[in-house]
Amino acid sequence: MKRIDRIPGKAAPESLQETLSGRLRAAGHRVTPQRLLIHQALRRLGRHVTADEVLKEVAGELPSVGEPTVYATLDLLVELGLARRIATHGGGSLYDLAERPHHHVECVRCRRVADLGAEIDLDSLLEAARASGYRGARVEVTVQATCPECAGEGRARPAPGSGQDRRTASRVL
Ligand SMILES: [Zn+2]
Ligand SMILES: [Zn+2]
Repeated sequence: MKRIDRIPGKAAPESLQETLSGRLRAAGHRVTPQRLLIHQALRRLGRHVTADEVLKEVAGELPSVGEPTVYATLDLLVELGLARRIATHGGGSLYDLAERPHHHVECVRCRRVADLGAEIDLDSLLEAARASGYRGARVEVTVQATCPECAGEGRARPAPGSGQDRRTASRVL
């Protein structure tokens, strides 16, 4: 891992920023305020969010930034291995920070996405794709299932699109 120069006088939350700055430079990309702020917004939101939610989160700090820039930046973070893109059954994409390896479960009714932790061998799948001549292979696993809230009788169903917090996600498992 490449050593990243510390910024004097900056405190704890900067470690996230240093990781991003280091990865951007290592991959030959410029470190721009919008890249740093969008990355920070993803951390602040702390759940699986749409590009639109990220746009709303950074609107105060980056009033001139539009949806295409947010999409491009999120895709760059995914490319750098700093964020994860989850293709939802409904056809949209959700993003979260890739701070630790995990998979996802999506409720087939309310469409909420939660984290799932399990050891599975994805390398052999990627290797099979490569062996068949496919290039640039990526794999993501999303379990489709009915969440406990939607399955429960007489309980209020959460509003569609409401985000699943990481902390509550662990209780869902
Ligand atoms: Zn549900
Ligand atoms: Zn996740």
